[in-house]
Amino acid sequence: MALSNSQYNAIMRDYERRQIDNRHDREKRVEEIYRRIPAIREIDSAVGARAVERARQLLEGDEGAKARLKKELEELGEQRTALLEAYGYPKDYMEMRYVCPDCRDTGYVNGEKCHCFKRAQMKLLYAQSNIDDIIRKENFSTFSYDCFDNVQVVPAIGKTVAQYMKEVAARCRQFVRQFGSERGNILFTGNTGVGKTFLSNCIAKELIDQYYSVIYLSAGDLFDLFSKNRFEARAEEEIRDSCQSVLTCDLLIIDDLGTEVNNSFTSSQLFYCINDRLNSGRSTIISTNLSLNMMRDSYTDRVTSRIVSGYQVIPLYGEDLRRRRLRG
Ligand SMILES: [Zn+2]
Repeated sequence: MALSNSQYNAIMRDYERRQIDNRHDREKRVEEIYRRIPAIREIDSAVGARAVERARQLLEGDEGAKARLKKELEELGEQRTALLEAYGYPKDYMEMRYVCPDCRDTGYVNGEKCHCFKRAQMKLLYAQSNIDDIIRKENFSTFSYDCFDNVQVVPAIGKTVAQYMKEVAARCRQFVRQFGSERGNILFTGNTGVGKTFLSNCIAKELIDQYYSVIYLSAGDLFDLFSKNRFEARAEEEIRDSCQSVLTCDLLIIDDLGTEVNNSFTSSQLFYCINDRLNSGRSTIISTNLSLNMMRDSYTDRVTSRIVSGYQVIPLYGEDLRRRRLRG
């Protein structure tokens, strides 16, 4: 499930607030009309009185009472509308008004989430991802092969970086396509600026747009979060919630592994996180500029073998795109 319980409750609380506001809003308009057009107040109380009267007759066996009531209500309704319009009000001025008339601000239509619920959910998912702004700029639709070298053949892969990146992008799209049935994991390796973060942003946007929950954290921020949760005697609820989301979101992106200060604590936390997510079938994308051997030195063999066995490793090549762009 893409939304956590507390997120779901937050959205539903908004609907409840909206419904209360709607009722207050309507009451205010009704009071205003009663003040300005007292005849309408009389009509409204006549409606009530007639209904009670006809219901009593119906109970006493007067079969015609129902039809009479219907006709009377129609007539009173017409008088009411005529009065409202004569005073320059729209005829639905005293009715309930909804922000979303489709679901009447309940969030659901026939047991299905309304489009307004889905929009609220999407907004939350974007905000939660930590890359709300950046993925609007960095995604598959802005991904361009022009910025990769298409002249020099890289010996390790026997093709140019531009040719290779087309294959990599295809693998990333495949990752997204099969996400519903098969949750994969990716380790991007390569130097700074070869497109690791950009590719994970592309994947993130596609998945959030399909209502999956995605959380992006640099390795440094991830370990900060874990250590706050572990060492601050009374970790705030927000921190505990964040840690929980890191473990349970549909896709976790750990960026720049290897740039943070690491120690045996970070190593064991990383193992816990990676292992837990693999065991529960949740996807993780890690990017690092460490080689696998360097990873082994930094985070123990245990972490590295878990990654190698459970992830597709995608090495990226080429020079720093930012520098290349500046020159070009
Ligand atoms: Zn709605």
